[in-house]
Amino acid sequence: MDASVSVQRVWSRISRRIIGFVASISPANHSIIIAIIPIMNPFIHLSDYRVIVCTGPQCKYAVLPIHVDSHLSDVRHNYKKEQQEQVIKEISQIEGLIQDTRGLESFVFPKSTSPAIPKLNAPKTDRLKCQLCEYVICHRRLIQEHCRTIHRWENERGKGRPSYKKRQTTPEWPWISRVYCQQFFKNRPKQGFFKVIREEAVDERDLEPDI
Ligand SMILES: [Zn+2]
Ligand SMILES: [Zn+2]
Repeated sequence: MDASVSVQRVWSRISRRIIGFVASISPANHSIIIAIIPIMNPFIHLSDYRVIVCTGPQCKYAVLPIHVDSHLSDVRHNYKKEQQEQVIKEISQIEGLIQDTRGLESFVFPKSTSPAIPKLNAPKTDRLKCQLCEYVICHRRLIQEHCRTIHRWENERGKGRPSYKKRQTTPEWPWISRVYCQQFFKNRPKQGFFKVIREEAVDERDLEPDI
């Protein structure tokens, strides 16, 4: 066989392999590769509250920067060390964040007339709120205990049969029920729920005439 013909055949075989390789990274395959790479930074910054909230579908609560490392190691995220370091680096560049538990002392909850925060878990709709302070809890027994110990409230019903007059009037409990509320943190010291206004109330407010 002529040497030049042999070289031609070898080159032809190599070029066919190159074409095959290019085909294997066609746009269709490429999009599959991108899809399996996790979103690098699941946190969003709520600057009004100086916190970051994890937007992971099973999370939706605030995480302190010092806990980001362990949060991303959790099975819900299962980030690799390099990915965690990248996220931590990005978070470290955000100015003014509350960094740790001590810093949380300066954290202020939204006013009870505020609408729900969409980035947090959807509001619970069945809580009880003290009318004398911002305390919100889920059990009647606990709100009674709170009112007794913090506000020196006395449950008249616990003192035997009430008078005829008292039986005719509905007792005024120092709490309200079916309150909508959300939670920022899962851990102490700010893991408590805070009241938000109902969605209907938001709609009503939006309908107010703009005078
Ligand atoms: Zn998360
Ligand atoms: Zn109270």
